[in-house]
Amino acid sequence: MNSVEEHVLERVHSRGIEFITLWFADVSGVLKGLSIAPEELEDAFNEGIGFDGSSIEGLTRIYESDMLLAPDARTFQEIPWENEHRVARMFCRVLGPDGQPAFRDPRGVLERQLERAAELGFTFHVHPEVEFYLLRSVASLSEEPEPLDRAGYFDHVSGGKAHAFRRRVVSALESMGISVEFSHHEGGPGQSEIDLRSAPALIAADNIMTLRTVVEELASREGITATFMPKPFVDEPGSGMHVHLSLFEGEENAFYSAGGQYQLSPTGRRFVAGVLAHAREISAITNQHVNSYKRLWGGGEAPSYVCWGHNNRSALIRVPLYKPGKSSSARVEFRGMDSAANPYLALAVILAAGLDGIEQKLDLTDETEDDVWALSDSERQALGIEALPTSLSSAVKEMGRSDLVPSVLGEEVFAYFQRNKVAEWAEYRRQITPFEYARFLSVN
Ligand code: GLU
Ligand code: MG
Ligand code: MG
Repeated sequence: MNSVEEHVLERVHSRGIEFITLWFADVSGVLKGLSIAPEELEDAFNEGIGFDGSSIEGLTRIYESDMLLAPDARTFQEIPWENEHRVARMFCRVLGPDGQPAFRDPRGVLERQLERAAELGFTFHVHPEVEFYLLRSVASLSEEPEPLDRAGYFDHVSGGKAHAFRRRVVSALESMGISVEFSHHEGGPGQSEIDLRSAPALIAADNIMTLRTVVEELASREGITATFMPKPFVDEPGSGMHVHLSLFEGEENAFYSAGGQYQLSPTGRRFVAGVLAHAREISAITNQHVNSYKRLWGGGEAPSYVCWGHNNRSALIRVPLYKPGKSSSARVEFRGMDSAANPYLALAVILAAGLDGIEQKLDLTDETEDDVWALSDSERQALGIEALPTSLSSAVKEMGRSDLVPSVLGEEVFAYFQRNKVAEWAEYRRQITPFEYARFLSVN
């Protein structure tokens, strides 16, 4: 055991923790957990906890079901919403029976990419902005759900339930060591946003997993439903998970340059160029569901085209103005990803795309100042602006032509993910929707 692990062991005793939940994510980004008794903890740190991974989505092939969970002691936190028992959680590495990292552990995929960045001298920092909807409890799965309120962007709703709910979420997150920058009502009725402070990418991804869990746990305790579905309502904005990204070289923000356009350094420009160059092939990862493409093509300030801009909210990447004199806040905002993405895989492919831009010294095209939705197809063509994939099917095809995505995910995760998404599309394509009934039938 190392000193952090010893410290955790002491905390478990002194705080009277009764259960320790070991958290990990499956390939789709769904949180999984296994509870152990405090007496098991020392063994867990020394040898890992054995479990049968065979029925976990994408984790193992059937003939290699014996897996190990190795808790990451740095992620130890008490769970504030468990009031019957004292429960703490740790995120885990998933290992094969030989103690080597499992091929299909999404957290491991991000760790490998962060090691690559470190070899180039960079640490990757991420500030996520997570949007979600609060709904009155869902009575029927075949009808449009009813949002919790009728408010809009930054609205203060007197006596509003959502406002009080966000406060409870924020204080639960803070008590788990997750710093929240701000929270507010978003544009859609019942829609909220919670922005976490910038953190090294692995912590940021763990924080996103925790945030989604806290929101769902607290909502269900209050008899409401929270959803991270990318586009729950036809005529309302979808739920994006914008990520503000920066690379640091030691203490220095590698995206900052006093003389650069918008103070973006050559490294920052190449990073953005790399993400744009790979945007179409990574979209199956950043936007992994059939429903994701309804957000990307449904307006509501979600990006549909591959371009960047300064104050342009229709662009896929936005380069915001930094606080004067605060070079550490230099960053770029990737607006494509949605709230249902697997944060480990999504951050890994975005980082890899940016690093590729840096390594290949890609030139950044001119920014797009116009509202790209308002341009005609031929105007966009003249400006060299490509569209993002319009459906999961075309996104998966783009991914299939990629060299970058399989190299980041590893063949195992890549093959599983591709199969899974082809099946999601095939299942969706079979459906006959209310839209089609409305087109073809008349009411007696
Ligand atoms: N909800 C929008 C989206 O789906 C973003 C709104 C905003 O700019 O925060 O990306
Ligand atoms: Mg927002
Ligand atoms: Mg944003």
